Amino acid sequence: MPSGRGDCKSCGLPITGKSISSADGRLTGRYHKACFVCTTCKEPFSSATFYVLDDKPYCDRHYHELNGSLCGGCGNGIEGQYLEDESTKKHHPGCFRCGDCGVVLRDGYFEVNGRAFCEKDAWRRVQQPWMTGRKGSMPAAGSPLGLPAGPGGMRTGSFGLPSNNRMGPGFAPRPSMEKRMTRLGMM
Ligand SMILES: [Zn+2]
Ligand SMILES: [Zn+2]
Ligand SMILES: [Zn+2]
Ligand SMILES: [Zn+2]
Repeated sequence: MPSGRGDCKSCGLPITGKSISSADGRLTGRYHKACFVCTTCKEPFSSATFYVLDDKPYCDRHYHELNGSLCGGCGNGIEGQYLEDESTKKHHPGCFRCGDCGVVLRDGYFEVNGRAFCEKDAWRRVQQPWMTGRKGSMPAAGSPLGLPAGPGGMRTGSFGLPSNNRMGPGFAPRPSMEKRMTRLGMM
């Protein structure tokens, strides 16, 4: 295994012609021109810009992927400010938005079924299964058999009015909304 100083750091073979090395010393060693590619995808760099991690060159995308700095919103790399949610997923400050209305969630958010929403939409979502589809608004004491036997009989057909029938406790688990905090950080 040749390991002389002049050998290509990537393939290990001697460099006779042109070589590439980092001008600013971010990356040690020399490379064949053809060997100077992203360590992950093996694609040459489209510009003079490349990233260094563990003394190896990477393209923008794979550097951020390894570095854990891809935006959870737009999927691009984050440099500078980011917002981190409680699952430590990072976002550009402008990319962390309510899943319904798209408002930027800068100062915390509400999580429903693992997704982030503003307070208004989170509230609407936890209400939804109770407001639509089935009747009933509160798990009040009703007829345990789930028969439409409330006052008013079964011929009114007035869907949408709160009544205390047909909804046994635990029949449709109510999604919870939980207040979460965001953290502003700097890459
Ligand atoms: Zn090489
Ligand atoms: Zn790459
Ligand atoms: Zn983004
Ligand atoms: Zn919203």
